[in-house]
Amino acid sequence: MKTRVTQIAIVSGKGGTGKTTLTASFALLGRPCVLADCDVDAADLHLLMAPTRLRTEEFRSGRKPVIDRERCTGCGRCAERCRFSALEMRNGLPAYDAFACEGCGLCARVCEAGAIEMREQRCGEWYVSETACGPMAHARLGIAEENSGKLVTTVRREAVRLAEERGLRAVLIDGPPGIGCPVISSIVGADLVVAVTEPTLSGLHDLERVAGLAARFGIRTAVCVNKFDINEEMSGRIGAYCREGAIALLGRIPYDRAVVESLARGEPVIRAAGSAAAAAVRGAWERLRAEAGWAP
Ligand code: SF4
Ligand code: SF4
Repeated sequence: MKTRVTQIAIVSGKGGTGKTTLTASFALLGRPCVLADCDVDAADLHLLMAPTRLRTEEFRSGRKPVIDRERCTGCGRCAERCRFSALEMRNGLPAYDAFACEGCGLCARVCEAGAIEMREQRCGEWYVSETACGPMAHARLGIAEENSGKLVTTVRREAVRLAEERGLRAVLIDGPPGIGCPVISSIVGADLVVAVTEPTLSGLHDLERVAGLAARFGIRTAVCVNKFDINEEMSGRIGAYCREGAIALLGRIPYDRAVVESLARGEPVIRAAGSAAAAAVRGAWERLRAEAGWAP
């Protein structure tokens, strides 16, 4: 019988809220489990998890034109019809701008000489690695490449496969910031979204947007307030928002120099024994486990 895999997506409305160090700490507390770094545009979970790479795979997505110069008659039709100005005629041949191209394929359709072929492009890589907490699926998207949503889906699929293969019960997803397409790919189908926020007005607005997004997909949200004591009034407002929306408040983590010091050592905060932040993270993890029904 297949193991029931609980998927927990840890996200934030913007970067720099402490999402990744929380994910790494939860992984240490809940090990063994599977990690999925779905922040493929700015992956940094590997900096805290020191993974050993086991497998590297190419990520191919999106088609781009390849022009056969031997066949090209220099008619210029492709450049005339490209709506994105990705082709222009130079010295009688079409010159191609990869950054402007949207991959629509119109140029290949209008080329009567059959000189243009649309081919899938290599846009990045994805990896399977081993960490002290269990296996980790992660990726790197090429510079200026799009389709990060598709790469996130690839990473998540691999993470769930690893969990099933090894009989592990939980996948911890380190999601990208914001509420765009890669975030949607990170949370759809998850059992719980953990929104990490800071006690500022923009933090509260970001939380509202993330919780609204999760609700649209029928996913419960839980909240961690990081550095709650730098603005107790805003922390109170976030707490009230959670109560009114029946959103679980997993933890309020204090500002603590130990967090900065542990990050400088490349370690998750939970390793800073005796620190107030580590104790709060441990408490948040206990509540997270109960909320997500995660039984390690
Ligand atoms: S439409 Fe085809 S033949 Fe004409 S310039 Fe473009 S590639 Fe060359
Ligand atoms: S695929 Fe579309 S966007 Fe790209 S060069 Fe051809 S016509 Fe232009």
